Amino acid sequence: MRPVMKNPTVTAGGIRAGAPVVPRGKPRQIGLPQRALAGFATTMSELMGPRQTESFGILMYHRVADPVAGLARPTWNVPPERFGQQLEGLLSRGFEAWPLREVLAHHREGRPVPPKAFVITFDDGYENVYLHAFPILRQLELPATVFLATAYLDSREPFPSDDWSEAGSGNVPYTTWRPLTTEECREMHTSGLVELAAHTHTHADFRERPGDLLSDLRRCQRVLRDRFGIERATFAFPYGNKSDGFAGPELSAAAEEAGMLCSLTTEPELVRPGTSPFDWGRFAAEEHDTAGSLAAKLGGWHEAVRSLGHRLLGRRPRHELRRPYQIDSSDTARE
Ligand SMILES: [Zn+2]
Repeated sequence: MRPVMKNPTVTAGGIRAGAPVVPRGKPRQIGLPQRALAGFATTMSELMGPRQTESFGILMYHRVADPVAGLARPTWNVPPERFGQQLEGLLSRGFEAWPLREVLAHHREGRPVPPKAFVITFDDGYENVYLHAFPILRQLELPATVFLATAYLDSREPFPSDDWSEAGSGNVPYTTWRPLTTEECREMHTSGLVELAAHTHTHADFRERPGDLLSDLRRCQRVLRDRFGIERATFAFPYGNKSDGFAGPELSAAAEEAGMLCSLTTEPELVRPGTSPFDWGRFAAEEHDTAGSLAAKLGGWHEAVRSLGHRLLGRRPRHELRRPYQIDSSDTARE
């Protein structure tokens, strides 16, 4: 886990103050054994297609911007060209992007979602999503959801949660770090392709604070209603991993009480039939991902090979150590 660093943040009252940047719970560098396993997963996926036929996957993006030569690479970033290649490659493999609300409706009605359906999501609400990702989504006619930390709409400052050392510096174009404007959100929303959604108001650390999450989400929902006419939003947890307590049953219950339609985590797992949408995981789509490696994640090969890797290394798979509530056990039983 990365060390906790000092960085300005915004308190629930909206005042910037020194506060720790909370860990994202995911290693930045992957070692050789992990790389080999990921490569194996990609090969199996390319040879055999999706391993899981009753599940589908959700992809998580953050920033879509070009790195600046000679400077630290932007964190949580996929450059625009790579972003386009990833999505075009998934389409050419037969994957179809579905709106999040449509998979939620299917779930509510007990209708299955095809295994090659997937959902595209963006966290935080970077302006570069409008500038670089939205034109590609429009060109390919792909629906997506943007989870907005609503306190920072129209802000000219970097997100307090932005852990990129160059965010806000004069060395890089502001488009690499600046939050979306209300007007840009409106344009995406009215296109009918992009769903605007909740990512809390302040993007604070809500671990063990379900009451604070509830009131913050109500505020976020008010902004989404007042500015964009969204009555009930979908929601993704900030930071979002269960192992560090950024998601879990108490926080999910608060999201449900706030009227959210779901609460997505950052656990890299498929959505299996019968799993509560207040506990659906997502796969990070990263700069090093190809369409093939994303197809392996969405097809269940990544999870299967990771479990195998844990077994080979003598560790128990994560999903056996921390059993998410309401998860279908059929997959773990097979492995
Ligand atoms: Zn976030």
